[in-house]
Amino acid sequence: MVSSEDLFRRAKECIPGGVNSPVRAFGSVGMTPRFIRKGLGDRIWDVDGREYIDYIGSWGPMILGHSHPAVVEAVGKAVADGLSFGAATEREVEMAELICSLVPSIEMVRMVNSGTEAVMSAVRLARGYTGRDKIIKFSGCYHGHCDAMLVKAGSGLMTQGIPGSAGVPEACSRDTLCAVFNDTESVEGLFEANPGEIAAVIVEPVGANMGVVPPADGFLECLRSLCDQNGSLLIFDEVITGFRLAPDGAQGYYHVRPDLSTFGKIIGGGMPVGAYGGRREIMEHVAPCGPVYQAGTLSGNPVAMAAGLAQLRVLKDTPDFYGKLNGVGDCFFGELKQLAGQAQIPCQVNHVGSLGCLFFTEQPVYDYASAQTSDTVRYTAYFRHMMDRGILLAPSQFEAVFLSSAHSDADLDRTLEAVRDFFR
Ligand SMILES: *Cc1c(COP(=O)(O)O)cnc(C)c1O
Repeated sequence: MVSSEDLFRRAKECIPGGVNSPVRAFGSVGMTPRFIRKGLGDRIWDVDGREYIDYIGSWGPMILGHSHPAVVEAVGKAVADGLSFGAATEREVEMAELICSLVPSIEMVRMVNSGTEAVMSAVRLARGYTGRDKIIKFSGCYHGHCDAMLVKAGSGLMTQGIPGSAGVPEACSRDTLCAVFNDTESVEGLFEANPGEIAAVIVEPVGANMGVVPPADGFLECLRSLCDQNGSLLIFDEVITGFRLAPDGAQGYYHVRPDLSTFGKIIGGGMPVGAYGGRREIMEHVAPCGPVYQAGTLSGNPVAMAAGLAQLRVLKDTPDFYGKLNGVGDCFFGELKQLAGQAQIPCQVNHVGSLGCLFFTEQPVYDYASAQTSDTVRYTAYFRHMMDRGILLAPSQFEAVFLSSAHSDADLDRTLEAVRDFFR
């Protein structure tokens, strides 16, 4: 039988760091990454034969749990018809219609292959549409790994202590201005210092790549009005929050309407999919309608569309799906908060619906700087404690706990019991 240790040794010889994405490496918790064999519901099994209750959920996509029968069946059917044509197919139209019907701010949408690609394309479109170059982002918000967005970009970089990235020319990030999450004055200051130059403000409406950091009351509304006053576009990066907090994402949950939105993760049901969309008048600037070029050989791939459509349809057709899942989140994170409050160790719990995070710090966490006060050594001890009890959390303090509709009451209780043990 293979083991994770064997596979990691082989992987390190031929894959940088032995992994195809840095957060998988378990480096910050000083362990060998687990190689996963299969998943079902809220459980996953590694090649070593151990079973875990999974709270990573592929970093967000698996909102129905692993191997949901509707998704698996839809993929099987699509595969039987062929894997890719590089030509238009019916499922792409169904996907676009479904997204437009679920998210009122979206009149047109373009499918791409990842969240990174969605953001890169939305930023290009905002620049092409406004004829301006500068973008305001927030420290600690992650928007994928395209050059212009790798500035103070949250989890992967926080965990490894990399300030930005080597290989990003200054020219590529020069027009990316960084504001402070939940600090509207920092945004006003940037608008004042760069009059008529800001193409867009991009934000994770709930910060979910520096741990979980909810928007303060009025923060998103203020971004909306600053963009309106300055002729700039507001982009919500809903790659995590989209189809997770509500059918219409964080924009529906908080009632703030962006000009452009980006999606990924849940929208693909576990397949590599991203999307960006918004008002018709803006989206008509994208080629072949307009002058902003963006393309993709595998964009709208039939198998990927089948998976995403199947998952979105279950979300849409399950009565009160979001009321229930968010309710489970309120209970679970509420109890976690209670445990944290009684603990001898200083800690904080932030949560919105099915997203949450336990920070090991004595101060409330409302932005990047306060998130960084967390004791990551303590987190490592916590992570290992939970893993020993068959509970898999993200191997980083600065990631969310992702709940799915497959998490059973018994498993959530078992998880809280393990947390109680840790605090004892
Ligand atoms: C994951 C993520 C991305 C990048 O998506 P990929 O599919 O990994 O390229 C962008 N924005 C946010 C908010 C994310 O969480």
